[in-house]
Amino acid sequence: MPRFTLRNPQSLAAPVVTGCVYFAAATLSVSVSRFEGGLAFIWGANAFLMAELLTSRISYWPRAMLACFLASMAATALFGLGPAAALPMAFINVSEALIVAIICRHFLSNRTVTGSMHPLIVFILALCGVADIVTGFAAAAVATLTTPASYGASWLHWYTGHALGGLICTPVLILLLQGEFGRWLRATPRPMKIEAVALLALFTLTTVHVFYWARYPMLFAPLLPLVLIAFRVGHIGAAASIVILALIGGVATLSGTGPLMIIDGSMGERVQAFQFYLALSFLLSLPVAAELNGRRRLFQMLQESESRYRAIAEHSGDVVLNISMEGVIEYASPSAQEQIGCAPGLLVGQSATDLVDPQDRDAVLAAHRQALARPGTVHQVEFRPLLAAGDLDCCEMVSRAVVDDRGQAVGLVSMIRDISKHKARQRALQQVAARDALTGADSRRAFLDKLDAEMARAAQGARSCLLLIDLDHFKAVNDRYGHSGGDRVLTGFVQRLLPELRGLDSIGRLGGEEFAILLVDCDSHSASQLCDRLRARLAAPIDVNDRGEAISVTFSAGLVALDGGSTRSAMLEAADQALYEAKHSGRNCLRLAA
Ligand code: GH3
Ligand code: MG
Ligand code: MG
Repeated sequence: MPRFTLRNPQSLAAPVVTGCVYFAAATLSVSVSRFEGGLAFIWGANAFLMAELLTSRISYWPRAMLACFLASMAATALFGLGPAAALPMAFINVSEALIVAIICRHFLSNRTVTGSMHPLIVFILALCGVADIVTGFAAAAVATLTTPASYGASWLHWYTGHALGGLICTPVLILLLQGEFGRWLRATPRPMKIEAVALLALFTLTTVHVFYWARYPMLFAPLLPLVLIAFRVGHIGAAASIVILALIGGVATLSGTGPLMIIDGSMGERVQAFQFYLALSFLLSLPVAAELNGRRRLFQMLQESESRYRAIAEHSGDVVLNISMEGVIEYASPSAQEQIGCAPGLLVGQSATDLVDPQDRDAVLAAHRQALARPGTVHQVEFRPLLAAGDLDCCEMVSRAVVDDRGQAVGLVSMIRDISKHKARQRALQQVAARDALTGADSRRAFLDKLDAEMARAAQGARSCLLLIDLDHFKAVNDRYGHSGGDRVLTGFVQRLLPELRGLDSIGRLGGEEFAILLVDCDSHSASQLCDRLRARLAAPIDVNDRGEAISVTFSAGLVALDGGSTRSAMLEAADQALYEAKHSGRNCLRLAA
């Protein structure tokens, strides 16, 4: 919906101009259309005040209303119902415009009344459904008290004069006050301007013909070019046509010529009929133009969005796919060639899951189903591609439903990105994190993960052991040979033990000079024997520097057989307790957990 800047005139002249225009319009109405001595049959002045209020900020309203209040009083006192009615009529006139302005501002915020359907309907309901009904009662009462006219006829005159005047003039005046005519002149290409002028000339000619030359009443004749103008030129053209129709038809009717003379009644009735005719012409053309305008705007937005999407799809490094509800690829972006090694043309018509390794198809299908079930949400899935190009081995697919105008999913748009490098980096980082940098043993984290997995196996009946090892008097090694000497001992220690371990066994450094060995499918007895073999392997001294100095180290150990019912910390604690006992038993020995 279009938003527009509301006017907020600051100069003192603004309300004076508003008041003068209102006075001129009101004077014209009462001078030419008080056919029966009561209320005026034509009332365009309030249409002007409504247009002023609807296009300006609320801060300007009091000044505009005061100016029109005074102008209405003057016009009524001098040319209308007389001084006695001036004050109440001014109050009623301003109230009508205020009611319409408040309702429109409340329901439409800053939206313009012209240019689209919904605001136009709000305006029509506010004017014809509320304001003119209510103010008509008050105005008819004043007219009954001050003139011989009856209450019912006065109400009807007020209602028709004001409703029709408002309907016909307000949208046109709003367009004028917002500078829409000027904007149309600046923004419209020359050929379209020529077409508009030609159509308006045709319309003018038809109207002149109907009101001055035609021998038969042919009020329907201008409707054809009017509708054509609404379609071709839009709401500006429709508004201009209504003004032309009002001017030519109005002057003709008031001067006693034209098809309305067929009405065998007073001038008031003829003018009323003419206003009905104008209002119907307005209701025929302006809403059509407003609706078309809305569609044109929507189409423009759609085109912009389409070209944005196309630019992204065609220049994106990711592969963009449009996938039908049946899972068939309907569009593949050019990057498919480079990213997944397949020409986009070959992908179209294939099932999207053909791109996916069979093992990952269910996951991809599940992501697609979720995206279709919940439009507006994005679903991401990682998969191994079937068409492996170069070092491509892992992709990420992000999918979102494409919806129709009712919000129902009609397909998917998916973006496929090569994440092989990212995954390789992730794996490398995991590997680094899984190793102890100094000794090459498993890191604490990786070892504990393996222990967890083994405990799960133990719960299923596997028999495995955990051996907790702490080097004896290691501080002394550091003290004597320095920290680097100690480091060489730690590295050498692990290198000595590794050949003794089987493929599934693992050694981890839990911290400092404390290690743990996981012995898979191994009972306590075999574990004790392995411990002896390890001890034997350490008999030969380990180099502590490059100067040929070497020392022998011993270790103390605590052994626990993994029990499926216990927790990891309980197992570690039991092994630690056994290790503690080994230390207290003089070191260089193994103790079994109780
Ligand atoms: P105990 O027989 O009772 O185990 O005596 P200990 O001297 O080995 O005592 P403890 O286990 O408490 O001392 C461990 C020492 O290991 C303390 C610390 O300086 C040393 N240490 C810990 N991490 C490293 C390391 O990465 N490199 C070196 N060189 N020394 C370390
Ligand atoms: Mg220690
Ligand atoms: Mg120690």
